[in-house]
Amino acid sequence: MQKTILRNYAKLIARVGANVQKGQQVIVTAGLDQPEFVKMLVEECYKAGASKVRVDWVCNSLQKVHARYMKQKDLARVEEWEKARLQHMVDVLPVRIFLDSDDPDGLDGIHPRFFKAMAARARIVRPYRKAIDNKHQWCIAAVPGEAWAKKLYPNLSRHQAVEQLWKDILFTSRADGEDAVAAWEAHNKDLKARCAYLNSLGLKELRYKSENGTDLTVGLIPTGLFHAGADTTMQGISFDPNIPTEEVFTSPDRRTAEGIVYSTKPLSYQGQLIENFSVRFEKGRAVEVKAEKGQKVLEEVISVDEASHYLGECALVPKESPIHQSGILFYNTLFDENAACHLALGSGFNECVKDFETMSQEEIYELGVNDSVSHTDFMIGSEDMAIDGVCADGRIVPIFRDGTWAF
Ligand code: ZN
Repeated sequence: MQKTILRNYAKLIARVGANVQKGQQVIVTAGLDQPEFVKMLVEECYKAGASKVRVDWVCNSLQKVHARYMKQKDLARVEEWEKARLQHMVDVLPVRIFLDSDDPDGLDGIHPRFFKAMAARARIVRPYRKAIDNKHQWCIAAVPGEAWAKKLYPNLSRHQAVEQLWKDILFTSRADGEDAVAAWEAHNKDLKARCAYLNSLGLKELRYKSENGTDLTVGLIPTGLFHAGADTTMQGISFDPNIPTEEVFTSPDRRTAEGIVYSTKPLSYQGQLIENFSVRFEKGRAVEVKAEKGQKVLEEVISVDEASHYLGECALVPKESPIHQSGILFYNTLFDENAACHLALGSGFNECVKDFETMSQEEIYELGVNDSVSHTDFMIGSEDMAIDGVCADGRIVPIFRDGTWAF
């Protein structure tokens, strides 16, 4: 891949994604796949004003070795020095950048004690994470890894597959042009305008219809908010948590979905594929699921816990999304969830209700935001998808026509 284009991409991540400010510390978490690019990114962080940049290298296949030989309690233990590092993160609020290049099948066959240990670790780490929530800038972006590239392009050589995946990542991230930063500013502006319009309507319901049989109504929370694109920390610094991002999303009232919805893209769940499936809802609860392929896995998706039977997210993505245009299934949520309108079963987002900062978890739940240990997106957008919004005063406003924005 051309150096100048990669340099622009690194600049986009440092300046727009993470929006590194003068004097801030930065932690980059990256796999071992693209060390040259990581070097470029670190340099761009310094040029943006970072006082100190640390790189945490991760290797998924090494996790398998640990999981095989370590006892569960040893895997799960968070050492005192790790806690000190987490506390340092809380005190200093470094900017965090995650470069994803993982093999989608990388954890296949890992010893099951690994997931139990990770869940136990997550409980200890959670308070530290909560303490930095909304206070620091962070950004997830992708770079190609060899295994990931070969999964998408099994017939190409390793080198060709990686080059092709670079092209795909840069195209879908709107970073393949002359000025990626300007392209993102325009994109963000468009997303924000759409959010503002949707939030001004006072919507109480979305009605989805498609020729494939989708006929679904989802109730919205009266004080609910649509979000998209850039986020802002409590200190007022804007950043783009995801590159790419195309979705305008909200958390619906979990108790309200009625009707049936058909998937329009396969769902890759823990390395297994579910295809051509439907979910039928009654009073918010998924009461029936049918899949041509992966029926058992789909049943697992909805029954992680009771709350995973309910919706946590409604996201609107027009068919012009570069990810949809590319026609690629990336086996990576960062990309795949930006390919089409989607719903998610499981947890909702606190920030999708007004004044969430001043409310308790119970109050937010009471409003209708779902709370589950899982969050699984599945794609329902089609070329002919129509969505109507029903306003609190009964007015009906077209939101989507023929798979794209109607406004
Ligand atoms: Zn989403």
